Amino acid sequence: MNGNVEVVVVGGGYGGVTAANSLARRDGVSVTVVNPRPDFVERIRLHQLVTGSDDAVVGFGEVLGGNVRLVVDTATRIDAAERQVSLAGGGTVSYDYLVYAVGSGASAPDVPGAAEFA
Ligand SMILES: Cc1cc2nc3c(=O)[nH]c(=O)nc-3n(C[C@H](O)[C@H](O)[C@H](O)COP(=O)(O)OP(=O)(O)OC[C@H]3O[C@@H](n4cnc5c(N)ncnc54)[C@H](O)[C@@H]3O)c2cc1C
Repeated sequence: MNGNVEVVVVGGGYGGVTAANSLARRDGVSVTVVNPRPDFVERIRLHQLVTGSDDAVVGFGEVLGGNVRLVVDTATRIDAAERQVSLAGGGTVSYDYLVYAVGSGASAPDVPGAAEFA
């Protein structure tokens, strides 16, 4: 591979971390992960957080390869033409390739009672 390829992974969940570590093993590839918090949230352990048997977080230092850069911030805009991600903190990160791994969430509940109890 010629030159250095910059990869930005938006979202440090299971998908983002797996993609980042896999891509960072390639020669000539630099990987940056953007995630809002400095810890990896083990979503499959969140029920243990509720019961108090586990905090369901692991430091990114334990799950990200040493050559993966972590930016603790939230992506607010992706400019595909400029290949640039804007961050809530005011900065930007540029990329050659983007991995969009922000997970999923529930839509705004409009079922009566869902907001309070679901
Ligand atoms: C309680 C619970 C138990 C589960 N148990 C299992 C199980 O036993 N087996 C199983 O296979 N699956 C299980 N799942 C599902 C599993 O957790 C998801 O499939 C998995 O987390 C999806 O991974 P992901 O990387 O796509 O998203 P996520 O893990 O949700 O990661 C997305 C990341 O993107 C970040 N992000 C979001 N928006 C932005 C932004 N704008 N800028 C930067 N970063 C952003 C988020 O903060 C997060 O860190 C469970 C889920 C829950 C909630």
